[in-house]
Amino acid sequence: MAKITLDNLAHSYFPEPKGEEDYALKQLDHVWNDGEAYALLGASGCGKSTLLNIISGLLVPSRGRILFNDKDVTEQDTVARNIAQVFQFPVVYDTMTVGANLAFPLRNRRMEPAYVARRVQKIASMIGMEDMLERKARGLTADAKQKISLGRGMVREDVNAILFDEPLTVIDPHMKWELRTQLKALHNEFGHTMIYVTHDQTEALTFADKVVVMHDGKVVQLGTPEELFDTPEHTFVGYFIGSPGMNLIDADVSGDKAICAGHEVTLGGRYKPMSGRVQIGIRPEFVSITSQDQGLPVTVKRVEDVGRHQILRAEFEGRQINAILPEGLPIPAAPIRMKFAPERISVYVNDWRVAPDEVTATPSKEVVL
Ligand code: ADP
Ligand code: MG
Repeated sequence: MAKITLDNLAHSYFPEPKGEEDYALKQLDHVWNDGEAYALLGASGCGKSTLLNIISGLLVPSRGRILFNDKDVTEQDTVARNIAQVFQFPVVYDTMTVGANLAFPLRNRRMEPAYVARRVQKIASMIGMEDMLERKARGLTADAKQKISLGRGMVREDVNAILFDEPLTVIDPHMKWELRTQLKALHNEFGHTMIYVTHDQTEALTFADKVVVMHDGKVVQLGTPEELFDTPEHTFVGYFIGSPGMNLIDADVSGDKAICAGHEVTLGGRYKPMSGRVQIGIRPEFVSITSQDQGLPVTVKRVEDVGRHQILRAEFEGRQINAILPEGLPIPAAPIRMKFAPERISVYVNDWRVAPDEVTATPSKEVVL
């Protein structure tokens, strides 16, 4: 197993990149700790597969180095790096049986037959295919074939890392949860360094201890699910994570006040003067409604009942603001005002979060989660 260091990495698919926009991966310095399970989360096209393929050795970066435990492997191929990788779509040997497919990486390395048989049994039970070991892979559904691919990725115990690139895309929805649980169990048992690529926040947040969020070829935040929820460092993390995501409103910030289209909002801290595009961000969980003469006046657009709570979608100065409110709370149709819990407001300048100089508000008990 290995700690993986990405040192001054960048990648362009163009032979002669001109500007920043020609880079699929922009400047990247990052350490993946030995034995940790990471999710790599981001929208389609942000560079996740590019990054994964650079780590596995399928792709040589245009710039920078990759170190495994301080050894430079930038020029090494996947086999030399001793990495298992599972792709979005199944890669199986059709003419082999399910069992032979699972055993392949072990037999290839001339492992003891008794050990191979034991491992194959164990992995087959993890992917729910113990009864199919003798069957030829040909003719199996895409779903079954992908489970074999997953199994083959997990069968070796001696790999430096296991990389998964959106591995559950073709898997039946009810099996997804089951397989994710199995991957987690495997991680707990063997402690491999794992990187799991997904564009699905639920998958990322349930699989990993640490989530690396990518946006437009850059890592914008590395954090636990709680950190990504509580203090998004970039507006992308704010609105990509959460359901619905964070509300972002243009503002002028001065001291502990924000002015949004002429209306004052109290912040949870004092801020230095700032220039650039300033926005305040508040998650819908920390928005409440009031009939008093305070907060932002909004127009109610829609109320969605989603079981344990309701989502109020309202409009302020042409922008949608969402609130998550307790089930059964009456919502007047007349113009209402929205209040934000001050200590839950983040301030962003040109999309990056700025910390307050001084914190003036602490979490209040009124906040409804
Ligand atoms: P993701 O996996 O997050 O969807 P990718 O890493 O596949 O993103 O792609 C990142 C960017 O690089 C995209 O703009 C994509 O079009 C481009 N790209 C990916 N693969 C190639 C390639 N082989 N040649 C040229 N451009 C590519
Ligand atoms: Mg991809």
